[in-house]
Amino acid sequence: MAQKFLKVECGECGNQQKIYSRPASKVECMVCSEPIAKPTGGKAELNGNVVTELEVE
Ligand SMILES: [Zn+2]
Repeated sequence: MAQKFLKVECGECGNQQKIYSRPASKVECMVCSEPIAKPTGGKAELNGNVVTELEVE
């Protein structure tokens, strides 16, 4: 099954960071430590904009 990654721009500081599209736990921005994604049991709930989607086989 293909895994999907998202490149997300942090809604607080604009840092771009690659995250798993279905994270098992909260993901924090590496720059400002704000949570940029949290798990909802399926797709992540994002605080920011998706820049690109990346699929990894
Ligand atoms: Zn940030």
